[in-house]
Amino acid sequence: MTPVPLFAVECGVPTFTLIEPATGEQFTRVPEESANDVDVAVRAAHRAFKSGPWRALNTRDRGRALMRLSNLIRENADGLAKLEARNVGKPIREARDEVELAANCFEYYAGTTNKIGGDTIPGAAPGVLMTFREPVGVCGIIVPWNFPIAITSWKVAPALAMGNTVVLKPAEQTPMTALRLASLALDAGIPEGVFTVITGKGSVIGEALVKHPLVRKVAFTGSTEVGANVMRLAADDIKRVSLELGGKSALLVFDDCDFDRAITSAVSSSLGNAGQDCCARSRILVHESIHDRFAKALVDAFGKVKVGDPLDDATEMGPLVTAAHRGRVQSYIDKGKSEGATLACGGDAPNVRGSYLEPAVFLDATSDMTIVREEIFGPVVAVMRFRDEGEAIAMANDSMYGLSGSIFTRDIGRAMRVARAVETGNLSINSGSSVHLEAPFGGVKRSGLGRELGLAALDYYSEWKTVYIDVSA
Ligand code: NAD
Repeated sequence: MTPVPLFAVECGVPTFTLIEPATGEQFTRVPEESANDVDVAVRAAHRAFKSGPWRALNTRDRGRALMRLSNLIRENADGLAKLEARNVGKPIREARDEVELAANCFEYYAGTTNKIGGDTIPGAAPGVLMTFREPVGVCGIIVPWNFPIAITSWKVAPALAMGNTVVLKPAEQTPMTALRLASLALDAGIPEGVFTVITGKGSVIGEALVKHPLVRKVAFTGSTEVGANVMRLAADDIKRVSLELGGKSALLVFDDCDFDRAITSAVSSSLGNAGQDCCARSRILVHESIHDRFAKALVDAFGKVKVGDPLDDATEMGPLVTAAHRGRVQSYIDKGKSEGATLACGGDAPNVRGSYLEPAVFLDATSDMTIVREEIFGPVVAVMRFRDEGEAIAMANDSMYGLSGSIFTRDIGRAMRVARAVETGNLSINSGSSVHLEAPFGGVKRSGLGRELGLAALDYYSEWKTVYIDVSA
């Protein structure tokens, strides 16, 4: 369905098959690149960084190139959204929002190229003390399969805005929108070698990218286990590393909340992208006085979620990304049952083509259970009860992760006390949101290192240089 794989097949380049999650059938084939291909791409990116036309562009023209890419994403939004929906299995409504986020992202960072600079500093020495913000060099960027175009854009846009060049490795399951984005970047006038996409296995080309001596910065989003390995591999060369990793976020429901709003948000923030979301609110902690009513309403609401064809506008939840991943999620459901939690609804794989799974609610879960401790990355939540504010905070913090979370209460004092006490990088009050393009996003504890988005992201794609001028006669 795209010239890239057909070209590769015709040329005898090794390829691998992508399966469409909604049908279980072949979607397309993409090149399976090697460590040698990584070397070629990184060397080209290094040349483009050192002496190519990207380096020579003034900051206004660099911003304009990124703005043209934003416009091209908008012009091609329909095709990109369909490609993403089919490749990942996500509902088309969500895919459209993510393509819009990608366009907004390039637009936002296009505006930063001539605004972010250094300072003059009133130091103790008599001369002039100043700082510059300089690009790092070649950035090796590795992204996961759950939000391909969104995560690609929120890493690539700030990297390019600061004048770096990028070699990007998308997840092997979902490379299609990244390949399309790289081709739109060329159409936008971003020179060859500035933004290159390589496709293949993480264990082969991902590792080769992280270890390549000409890569100066690694930005990784994915699982905590692979992220820790990336950090170890990057250590030898003291590469700059930022990591966005797993999560097990809590949604805290107090007895004075807007009940219907809390239910609606609990459903959308745990089942968006079929729960394959690092920010999914997979632990739902409810005050004991409303626990039973809340649990019943949540089970009813999960039962009404429209699971179906990603390309149907009415679909609220699509299939999981692969049959293998569905099997992994089902093994967590089995574990939840065997450890004593009550499966109140869902968990079955319907007898249709595609890797579908009915959304599941566990009740009677306890904090030592595997389904409460580990990231399931699927449409599965565990509901637990708390007695008071102190216990709610302790339960929320009883996790190795700290990425996102929500608090539902009408008491602003309590909302702020709890928001400050929960150990997490992002949190919303009376809302299920996590990502705001204009604000820093990232995790604490085993959820990651560094921040994406907002102006904060630019710190991770630039180096401060301090220059002192002796002005004595
Ligand atoms: P993953 O860690 O398996 O893979 C992520 C990326 O790393 C893929 O591109 C993969 O090919 C590559 N990779 C795999 N092995 C590698 C290796 N040895 N060296 C270098 N790269 C390698 O994760 P996934 O299954 O694609 O994504 C799901 C995970 O991503 C979840 O844990 C989720 O929480 C996390 N995630 C985090 C965020 C965030 O912002 N914190 C966002 C989305 C997803």
